[in-house]
Amino acid sequence: MGTSKWIFTAALLVSVSATAQPQSTDSQPAAGPNTSAATQTVQPPASTDAAPQTPASQAQTQQATAPAPTPSVLPQPTTMDQVVDRFIEREHGLMKALATRTPVVETYLQNLTADPQLGPVPSADHYFLGRMDMGETVDRKDYLKEQDKGMETRLMGGFNKLFKVQYQPMGFSWMVYADRTDFDRAHYDFHYIRREFLGDVRCLVFDVTPKKNSGKGRFLGRVWVEDQDYNIVRLNGTYAPAPKNSFFFHMDSWRLNLIPGYWVPAYIYSEEGDFSAGVKNKIAFKAQTRIWGYDLKKGDKDDELTQIRVDSVKDETATTQDASPLQAEREWQQQAEDNVIERLTRAGLLAPEGDVDHILQTVVNNLEVTNNIDLPRPVRTRVLLTAPLETFSVGNTIVISRGLIDVLPDEASLAAVLSHELAHIVLGHNLGSKYAFNDRMLFSDDSTYNNLGFKHIPEEETAADKKAIDLLNNSPYAQKLDNVGLFLKALQSRSAQLNALLTTHLGNSLAENGTISRLAALASKGPALDNNKLDQVAALPLGGRVKINPWDDKAEMVKTAPVAITSARDKMPFEVTPFYPRLARWGTQNAPSAPATSAANAPSGN
Ligand SMILES: [Zn+2]
Repeated sequence: MGTSKWIFTAALLVSVSATAQPQSTDSQPAAGPNTSAATQTVQPPASTDAAPQTPASQAQTQQATAPAPTPSVLPQPTTMDQVVDRFIEREHGLMKALATRTPVVETYLQNLTADPQLGPVPSADHYFLGRMDMGETVDRKDYLKEQDKGMETRLMGGFNKLFKVQYQPMGFSWMVYADRTDFDRAHYDFHYIRREFLGDVRCLVFDVTPKKNSGKGRFLGRVWVEDQDYNIVRLNGTYAPAPKNSFFFHMDSWRLNLIPGYWVPAYIYSEEGDFSAGVKNKIAFKAQTRIWGYDLKKGDKDDELTQIRVDSVKDETATTQDASPLQAEREWQQQAEDNVIERLTRAGLLAPEGDVDHILQTVVNNLEVTNNIDLPRPVRTRVLLTAPLETFSVGNTIVISRGLIDVLPDEASLAAVLSHELAHIVLGHNLGSKYAFNDRMLFSDDSTYNNLGFKHIPEEETAADKKAIDLLNNSPYAQKLDNVGLFLKALQSRSAQLNALLTTHLGNSLAENGTISRLAALASKGPALDNNKLDQVAALPLGGRVKINPWDDKAEMVKTAPVAITSARDKMPFEVTPFYPRLARWGTQNAPSAPATSAANAPSGN
């Protein structure tokens, strides 16, 4: 365990090192022979050479069903010591239950700088997306292969000549567990604090401190333990002590009761920085990490090729005629569209069709009806599960990212971004028919972005924008386009700082050379951006509209009560905020929708 402990420590640091050492491995704790993946400080582990490949035989045995629930026949603890023993045992049980899972993990980070009026505001941003192997040797494969220059970001203030900061994507998801190897009484002291409700769930709160000389990088903080099965539902704190030239950042980690008996890591908020007078802030950032796709199969070429399924095939088509050339063309487009949608869903990038789509389709329908658009096939919509602001269309399916839905201030703005994609469909700007060939779907999940892309040529973009304005002017949203203008202005005002949020991975970017180009004709509409006008809400923070069920990837609208904005600092356009999910027990009224394949009703295996 000695070596792997160091891997973990190295992986979750923000390491601060002198620029004179380009590789900066010196600043890292001792690295064993197999630590190459985790100790690469400049970039996340490359999946090709550093990550152990999963043998095909192993991939086959991967089951997409939920782990078996715990039998709650154990006697209820009567002392706090027994409670501690129980949640330690449950924590190890969770690690075991999730050991075969490879969820998607996304971290979106904003560096902060002080603004006299708005308080800490984003100065730059970074985005990481990968798959996390929850097995004993923690592994990570990244969807974003290209070296993100931003990952090696210069410190603000007076230190920029001496130091650089390196964010290690794995670090942000580290607090899925308190301590992977040594979460026990030999390494930690536990102190009961009080009872407290988190949402609907009554919890016992404990402070957890590492024992003296128990090693570097131990969990230091607080845990919330629900009082029925004694699972940890929230962890808050940091790791200590830190190795030289490095430090651990603070995290607030939340779990959801998505399957019977287990609380599954879902959200982690990280924050550093002190903006009080006289403090020389070295590092200031806030970051949201979301985990989803627990029920995804391990995406592997080999896995794919072994899935040979022979169903009894019957052609249900009503027509007895051959397809005309135009019909054949449409069939072909449909096949490509279905292939892509299915593949993106399997890679953990698209939500299955659900509640959010009903809202999106209503808006699309409003645009279609008022413009007398009659397409041979209905327009469908799907939610891209990721944060960067993007839309694209494949055949007749419009895809819009979770992050973009989150920040749009109103329905008219949603209609505006959807109208651009509807315009592509109406104009027949159909991309991606090459994906009707099934061999093009055979790639590993983490190379999705290298294998799929739906970017239009500039001429088609211009034509789609022009058509979109026509569609909007004929629609019920025609009188509300001022809000769209305001949104575009807000986006423009933050675009220099939010490069990662504006970097698209599948569709065209909303910006070109630092200028918001999408629907530019609307950007002059509406009043000027004014932070002092508290009733002017041009764009929302991330996370306010769509929530993802981390087990089955279903997207649903967040139910929140309106909160009055009392200062310009409350607006937080495009910003990340802490998480505060309403916790509920599995199967109760407020619980997240139950996964399709629960342990209770799913057969094991296929
Ligand atoms: Zn476009």
